[in-house]
Amino acid sequence: MHDLLIKSALFVTCDRNHKIVYDGTMAIRNGRITALEPSDSDAAGQLQAHKTISAKGRLVMPGLINMHCHAGDSLFRGLVEGLTLESWLRRVWIAEKAILTPQTTYLGSVLGLAENLLAGATTVMDMFWYPNETVRAANDLGMRLSTGGIFFDLPGIGDRMHVNYIKEAETFMATHQESETIFPAILPHGSYTVSPEHLEDAKAISDRYGALFSTHAAETQAEQSDISNRYGKSVIRHLEAHDLLGPRSILAHCVHVDKTEIKMMADSGTIVAHNPMSNLKLGSGIAPVYEMLDAGINVTLGTDGAISGNDLDMWLTMRLAASLTKGVMMRADVVTAKQVLHMATLNGAEALGQSKNLGSLELGKAADFIVLDLNSIHAVPMFDPINHLVYSTSKSDVRDVFVDGKQIVRDGKATKVNMDQTIENVRALAPSIKASLE
Ligand SMILES: [Zn+2]
Repeated sequence: MHDLLIKSALFVTCDRNHKIVYDGTMAIRNGRITALEPSDSDAAGQLQAHKTISAKGRLVMPGLINMHCHAGDSLFRGLVEGLTLESWLRRVWIAEKAILTPQTTYLGSVLGLAENLLAGATTVMDMFWYPNETVRAANDLGMRLSTGGIFFDLPGIGDRMHVNYIKEAETFMATHQESETIFPAILPHGSYTVSPEHLEDAKAISDRYGALFSTHAAETQAEQSDISNRYGKSVIRHLEAHDLLGPRSILAHCVHVDKTEIKMMADSGTIVAHNPMSNLKLGSGIAPVYEMLDAGINVTLGTDGAISGNDLDMWLTMRLAASLTKGVMMRADVVTAKQVLHMATLNGAEALGQSKNLGSLELGKAADFIVLDLNSIHAVPMFDPINHLVYSTSKSDVRDVFVDGKQIVRDGKATKVNMDQTIENVRALAPSIKASLE
């Protein structure tokens, strides 16, 4: 006996072969996918479960994986506008310093993670000041999260020093090492905000635990000049010189990288988190996604924080990732819809070391899936579901979300957290947020 059957849906599995089951039935037991068969098959006819959901007119696919976010920054959405990264950051840090405590970080994290969740992301990699509060928010919502100790050399939030960051990162690692929902990571902010020695300290912790390591890298030309002036090398070469590339290293952005650097990243198995919306809005540039894919780099997708891209929408991210390179190269055949759908699902799972568990609808994997409504004017006709997902789907099409076979969004609403109360609390805080920059 299974726990749950999802019947009569269009399944886009996002497996290696991009298998689609046009009218399928999926079974779930103990949070795992136990069967996925055509609805008219004998095998599907024999499936029995405690609960059955008819999903006719719906599309079911794996939950999306957002590989670069700062959920708590949702508190500051729209506060700092019209500036490029470096001057933008200086304003952001003033506001963060005035507002962020563990309590407000929790509030912002619920806000930002819920936006991710309602838009279909079931797993998020997040870098923020109080990671334990982001974990609490993800646990409350029922999502998976990769986060961990931040590193930052300037006087940061809470006036912590390097020695404090080391201690916090170590404790975080030890606490979440065995978790199936929290994937611990080491997250130094960037090579322009963390010294080479401190970056090495951070990497040593990630190496000791075999944990993920993620940092901002090669986001703007100004960052390249800064790092070249300080260390005589470009950002990626600087990271390489300090042994910071590798298959557990996830570099956010990589907008300004040359051919040699792309090869360095490919040869070392380094992963890229591409954030097209943030890169466009901050005037950072357009990452060479075609060249990175062509070199064999695992390219994943991220929204970045809502303070830079102004929303946390993986559908917009997919559409930009699929379209920008075509425009830049004046070629319609590069960066295909299939490649982009994998960037938002299976590639993220691989980056997190979770390819056996997440990223596609396959037997034995966790039942992390989303249900999209196809009864909308932009969903008919639908000749190719994968093209539809990348170019026509909106976050409002996401109606239901399941993690580990448990429903955590029902008909567009989070089931585990009272979001009305969250909205009220954020509204109450808004005047102080605005005042922080006055
Ligand atoms: Zn970022």
